[in-house]
Amino acid sequence: MTTLDLARRNANAAPILGARAEAEPWTPPAPSLAGLTRARLMESLGEAGVPERQLKMRSAQINHWVHNRGAAEFGHMTNVSKDLRALLAERFTLARPEIVTEQISVDGTRKWLLRLPPAGRHDRGAEVETVYIPEEGRGTLCVSSQVGCTLTCSFCHTGTQTMVRNLTAAEIVGQLLVARDRLGDWSEGASEDGRLVTNIVFMGMGEPLYNLDAVRDAIEVIADGEGLGLGRRRITVSTSGVVPQMKRLGEETGAQLAISLHAVRDDLRDVLVPINKKHPIAELMEACRTYPGASNARRITFEYVMLKGINDSPAEARELVRLLKGVPAKINLIPFNPWPGTDYECSDWETIERFSEIVFRAGYASPVRTPRGRDIAAACGQLKSETKRLRAKERIALEAAE
Ligand code: SAH
Ligand code: SF4
Repeated sequence: MTTLDLARRNANAAPILGARAEAEPWTPPAPSLAGLTRARLMESLGEAGVPERQLKMRSAQINHWVHNRGAAEFGHMTNVSKDLRALLAERFTLARPEIVTEQISVDGTRKWLLRLPPAGRHDRGAEVETVYIPEEGRGTLCVSSQVGCTLTCSFCHTGTQTMVRNLTAAEIVGQLLVARDRLGDWSEGASEDGRLVTNIVFMGMGEPLYNLDAVRDAIEVIADGEGLGLGRRRITVSTSGVVPQMKRLGEETGAQLAISLHAVRDDLRDVLVPINKKHPIAELMEACRTYPGASNARRITFEYVMLKGINDSPAEARELVRLLKGVPAKINLIPFNPWPGTDYECSDWETIERFSEIVFRAGYASPVRTPRGRDIAAACGQLKSETKRLRAKERIALEAAE
């Protein structure tokens, strides 16, 4: 493992939990245009005084420069007038989330810890993780949608971190911009040929369907053919089973769906994925059957974490196959990735093979997900940042100091 500690760019950055006693005036940082939807770009340019009749054209130009060419400075935008470039530079930045650390696994997986700019007076900036997984002929970027998670799946490290806040759409897109920057993955055209990041999965920190508006806007930016240009079929959103939002996800994003199933009986799923108590398996499966756009060509992925002695018996494999009847499905068996403090263990390899064989015979191919980046804690369910929510007491202390 090599760890490249990119010394915090801003040496004076306030500590995350900096409950500072003395009153300090807080000036919000200049807003960044990077990662914004075209509608938000138009709004920002309008507020900066760009004439109404130019808004559409200017936002298209900026979208192209920033999201297709990777411009990080207004000075590079050669088809934008000098005056406008100066105005933009005065009011805005093209800043991406700040890279705190970059780790590279022996298998080529990369993980970035990113610092997001403060979202308000009492927010000192939150941290999230993003993982890039290179594979033969493709590269997948695993993005986070929340800092922490409100849910508490018992086998997931993120679930032990309290929910801090939702990410904005720009902060979600920002994770892809950082990856492209660091991988040198900007190309001249919108073509996907030769790109390193070819797929996006919302499988990092957080439950994407509890932040659907931002996820939808982020997908709009990522899928824009004149911008980042990643097809919607290459974007997968994974949910623990927020049933009431699944239809909207399909209708408004056209993204591929993945379901964190992990158990075939409600009594066990209630423990592993507690949202099951609200939306049990039958309800979840019904929402899958009616997911907009699902077909044999566009199957729903069912994720199933292999936990030793918990959910890995041959009977459960057969029940899984039975459960998925009538649903256009793929199965992804995920060997459990351990993290400090967990009581769960990964199933033995023979057990995983036996389970996989039953699923395979029922017509589901190649289902075991190879763990990637375990040496840098970048594998599924290992992500967690140190960001904590300010406790009520700390918030009151801060307010009193003003
Ligand atoms: N919140 C969403 C997306 C993030 S988790 C969801 O739950 O679907 C991405 C996948 O990793 C989920 O299937 C999750 O259940 C799985 N996972 C969580 N912890 C894991 C661990 N320790 N080992 C293997 N997979 C894990
Ligand atoms: Fe949240 Fe997904 Fe982890 Fe469950 S598995 S705690 S929903 S991130």
